[in-house]
Amino acid sequence: MNKNLKTATLCVQGGYQPKNGEPIEVPIIQSTTFKYDDSNEMAQLFDLKKEGYFYSRLQNPTNDAVALKIAQLEGGVGCVLTSSGQAANFYAVFNICEAGDHIVASNEIYGGTFNLFGVTMKKLGIECTFVNPDASEEELQAAFRPNTKLLFGETISNPGCAVLDIEKFARVAHRNGVPLIVDNTFATPVNCRPFEWGADIVTHSTTKYMDGTASQVGGAVVDSGNFDWMAHAEKFPGLCTPDESYHGLTYVKAFGKMGYTTKLVAQLMRDLGSIPAPMNSFILNLGLQTLHLRMAQHCKNAQAVAEFLHDDPRVAWVHYSGLKDDRYHERAMKYMPKGSCGVIAFGLKGDRDTAVKFMDSLQMINIVTHVADARSCVLHPASHTHRQLTDEQLKAAGIAPDLIRLSVGIEDVDDILDDIKQALDQIGVRK
Ligand SMILES: *Cc1c(COP(=O)(O)O)cnc(C)c1O
Repeated sequence: MNKNLKTATLCVQGGYQPKNGEPIEVPIIQSTTFKYDDSNEMAQLFDLKKEGYFYSRLQNPTNDAVALKIAQLEGGVGCVLTSSGQAANFYAVFNICEAGDHIVASNEIYGGTFNLFGVTMKKLGIECTFVNPDASEEELQAAFRPNTKLLFGETISNPGCAVLDIEKFARVAHRNGVPLIVDNTFATPVNCRPFEWGADIVTHSTTKYMDGTASQVGGAVVDSGNFDWMAHAEKFPGLCTPDESYHGLTYVKAFGKMGYTTKLVAQLMRDLGSIPAPMNSFILNLGLQTLHLRMAQHCKNAQAVAEFLHDDPRVAWVHYSGLKDDRYHERAMKYMPKGSCGVIAFGLKGDRDTAVKFMDSLQMINIVTHVADARSCVLHPASHTHRQLTDEQLKAAGIAPDLIRLSVGIEDVDDILDDIKQALDQIGVRK
């Protein structure tokens, strides 16, 4: 395929390329295994000496076709689909870290990732230092240790809507000889391609905008192929020294730019197995085909809603990078000139209960844990996703106790605004 195809074309036609007489839609190969006439041929597949399919825990044609589309959209060399966004972030990190290692991550990240890094990975012997993403380069540098293996951040943070200075993060990571991993779930490659700004690995929860229909939970890990692992071989023995569980194969030597991706499949997927069902990858691909259209409409609707909230006296504060006086407006214009996403964070004058009353008064906008869906939806992290955290911990994670996460959908914007207005009229705060 032409390498210079634009994003919209890749959304529609990237990845799967049907040959003469083949189905136009990516086939669902819902099969655990693949048959061979010659046992020696299958042995070569096991040795990674030949490419081909043998068991869907390692590779499946439907999953691979959709992974290829996401790799093309991000401008990467390889992509692996996972069964969830959580699995994607875990695999992206665990592919280059082991017990005794350390990572540095922005503290303005998705609650699930915050817990994965701060609690669960700690039990595996991998420690995380959280940093304020707006800290100076010197302050970021201070978080690094000799055993630090990567730096992590989100393009647009969930739920705080902070915009990452990707170039600054990449500079600090590379100065320390480690890759920058960016979770690009909210921006999607339609609005931001982190590799163009120095990120080395990108992750996604494909559950969100990429799917857009709230039909499947999934994730993706994309490698730019740009990070020179061998130049820092002592830090990354898993990639740069022989893997005993693969007959002494050294991933980066044997597979070059595909070393990181190959290890993730051949070792992590083999042993941990968080693959998506082929059916789910098929559904994800249906979503990807309209991602570019939906993202444009999400941004347009969210801009109108953010401007309305900004001017309403019952609203205490609004975080949306499309607002001219937003703290991240300038940075968002640099990294995401076409728009950021449909998610707005805001607070109402009043207390935690005011937020709950507002949400309960909504009629069309749905109260769900989900975000970044075609349907408008709303969540109060302090009462829902983050309810285990104290106000202090919430603040440490960049989440105000009154924060309402409004995910603006692609319905008619007048209907979205009408619903918000009638709910505001019911909360009893005087204009
Ligand atoms: C939802 C989300 C995740 C986790 O993804 P799941 O698909 O729910 O496992 C990770 N990162 C971000 C930014 C998210 O919004």
